[in-house]
Amino acid sequence: MTGYTAEFGFELRACRWAEQEWPPAPTSVAPDDNGDPTIVVARQLGTERRRWDTIVLECDPAALRERARFGPQRLDSDLLHVVRNAPGEWTYYRDALPHPGYPWRYVREAVHRADDRGILETRKSGNRIQIRRKWTYPDWLQRVVAIENKPDLDRSAARRLRPQLEFDVAIGLADEVWVATRRTGDRVEPILFEDLPIEAGVLAFDPESLTADVVWNPRTLAVAEPGTRILERPSGGDRDGSAARFEYVDPEWKRERRLVIAERAYERGWRSFVDTMRPDCRYFHLRDRDGQLLPYCGVKECQPTAAECSGSCQFYEPEPPAWRTKGWPIEGGPGTRFKTLLAERRRRRRPGLE
Ligand code: SF4
Repeated sequence: MTGYTAEFGFELRACRWAEQEWPPAPTSVAPDDNGDPTIVVARQLGTERRRWDTIVLECDPAALRERARFGPQRLDSDLLHVVRNAPGEWTYYRDALPHPGYPWRYVREAVHRADDRGILETRKSGNRIQIRRKWTYPDWLQRVVAIENKPDLDRSAARRLRPQLEFDVAIGLADEVWVATRRTGDRVEPILFEDLPIEAGVLAFDPESLTADVVWNPRTLAVAEPGTRILERPSGGDRDGSAARFEYVDPEWKRERRLVIAERAYERGWRSFVDTMRPDCRYFHLRDRDGQLLPYCGVKECQPTAAECSGSCQFYEPEPPAWRTKGWPIEGGPGTRFKTLLAERRRRRRPGLE
């Protein structure tokens, strides 16, 4: 199969590689009980302005196990505000929590949601809602690594990629930024001739063999320092004397965003691609490749992208209802079974979850 031309397929293989091989160079990622580095891999996450293809979270193993007490679902920023600041003794929630910068009624709603999820204790005292923490929210996230997947990095792709990487480097939200491109086998990988920021690392990746070479080491970005958000840049023509527009980003915002992204990564992992496809189509299959389940379309006879395998696909046909009730093999079966299979694999990557 020559087949990982589409970025989507390349990206799934890159996620699988990261799960098995991270880190690409010796680092101090703490090992889990099996001696493997403690990481969580996810895809297509970031901020409103910038979404990363692959994300690797390097974690503290003991703290990640403690995180599991809060359940497999993510904690959004409102829930994080509540559980991270919840006191050890019963206290009126407005006295216990720092002012959130938005109306208290949203905090009250988050308190109720946390209570419903069983991750916070609440009681009424007169009209007042008091709260008490159940567990301390652990400091499980050590580093965030962003990988941009560009299998075929020709000159115009490099031109488009450059401002994205410059944005990442200037804002310093991830500790490291990498580009993964298809390994060519040339003595000097062609990507090194492109004008990309030197702070970004470069991986020459072979999606067939799931191996990668580091051809350029990244620099560690200053995540605890103020960052710069590039809002607009001049077009650069001869007549364009305008200056770039940017704004400062404070470290507290970055700390909070990193944790929100990490929580979403913890919930979703990278196998959730099935959530945006049509596993309920009769032609949807999961094919096992070196232990990795990849989507396959039986009518198009290829690995479809998430955009192709959607409600607008002209070949979509609903699966027969009977498929949903039988145990079908991997190569052909109902959407619910595929989802269960992938969710099961996702769950196994999150220590501490039963
Ligand atoms: S026919 Fe369309 S919807 Fe069905 S699996 Fe193929 S790409 Fe997806």
